[in-house]
Amino acid sequence: MYDIACKFNVNALKRCSTNPFSPLEEHYWRRLTDVGFLLYKVNKFHIRGHKASCGDFYGLAYTPLVGMRAGEEIETGWPHSNREGTATREMDAGKRLDMLQTHMLFMNQSKMKKMGEWSLDCALTGAYYF
Ligand SMILES: [Zn+2]
Repeated sequence: MYDIACKFNVNALKRCSTNPFSPLEEHYWRRLTDVGFLLYKVNKFHIRGHKASCGDFYGLAYTPLVGMRAGEEIETGWPHSNREGTATREMDAGKRLDMLQTHMLFMNQSKMKKMGEWSLDCALTGAYYF
């Protein structure tokens, strides 16, 4: 899922194959255009800003086996990390790296605590909800 996957997928293979810094090994490049292997989808929040036909093809609502999800999970930490942008912009690279690393470790620790609380809640109540 990507905010502009509907546009990105058009040239994904070309971008990957012509980029000397591509992290994807060459024997995987063809998978970028294999619709039986890879589906390009746009997250729910962003799909509302696209034209209607995008929603039909790239939206999650009509995608089998996806379930009900927003697709925005990776962005949930941004409100916190955006604040760090202002706080770190005057720092040198080393201090900025230390600060952001500390921030991300704290975010991950907080997520793990919440996952533990959720698991305990499920175990105590016998309920499994997603
Ligand atoms: Zn679109």
